[in-house]
Amino acid sequence: MTFESVLAQARGEKRTLLSEVEAKEVLREAGVPATATTLATTREQARDQAEAMGYPVVLKVVSPGIAHKSDVGGVKLNLLNRDAVGAAFDEIMANARRAEPNASILGVSVQQMAKQGTEVIIGMTTDPQFGPVMMFGLGGIMVEVLKDVSFRLVPLSDRDAGQMIDEIKGRPVLSGVRGQPPADIDALKKAILQVSQFVENHPEVRELDLNPVFAYPDGAIAVDARIVVSEA
Ligand code: ADP
Ligand code: MG
Repeated sequence: MTFESVLAQARGEKRTLLSEVEAKEVLREAGVPATATTLATTREQARDQAEAMGYPVVLKVVSPGIAHKSDVGGVKLNLLNRDAVGAAFDEIMANARRAEPNASILGVSVQQMAKQGTEVIIGMTTDPQFGPVMMFGLGGIMVEVLKDVSFRLVPLSDRDAGQMIDEIKGRPVLSGVRGQPPADIDALKKAILQVSQFVENHPEVRELDLNPVFAYPDGAIAVDARIVVSEA
């Protein structure tokens, strides 16, 4: 699926929010590392897709009306076999219907469970004056409570990407603290630059969030992705 076909599909349905499955697919196509993710509309499909992918897997609710999946009990991690996948499918559907009775629920996304890494966020918002702006920060409370983030205007140079990482107050965390392993700074830089290139190539993208990206001593991968496009 190309960005153009995903965009056409969304516009045909008068949606501006791409699903996690669509967002990851177009990002992977652009070279941004993200977990391979498929859409399952039935319990059986979810079980078959998990089997084909290999355990452990993660299931998440897919609904245009639900932006924060874990808030509604819509994320089930570390599923180890077919039975666990079936049970997780049922629970996610029940939780989502209870939390958002009016939302249309398309099914669940099935993806491989990534090993734990240092959580960072790579994002983009569109400023009414300056246009696309890239954002980088550490995941969790560092962004939500402490607002420890850095910004740069698109297009970014290699140097900009490096500075975005170095500027945050939590930067020492990425060098490894308290037994936490260091993060692969080059892989993070590369991911920031690839996202910047992606939004430059596709001006229809208005907002983008990779939250979180797991950073490893060797490499990095986005496990959640959200993309908002402009109206037709
Ligand atoms: P939300 O819509 O609530 O942001 P996420 O997709 O970010 O949902 O999932 C919630 C949390 O679950 C993430 O912050 C991450 O810690 C964990 N998680 C999500 N997907 C994966 C995955 N594929 N592998 C490992 N952990 C994951
Ligand atoms: Mg998330």
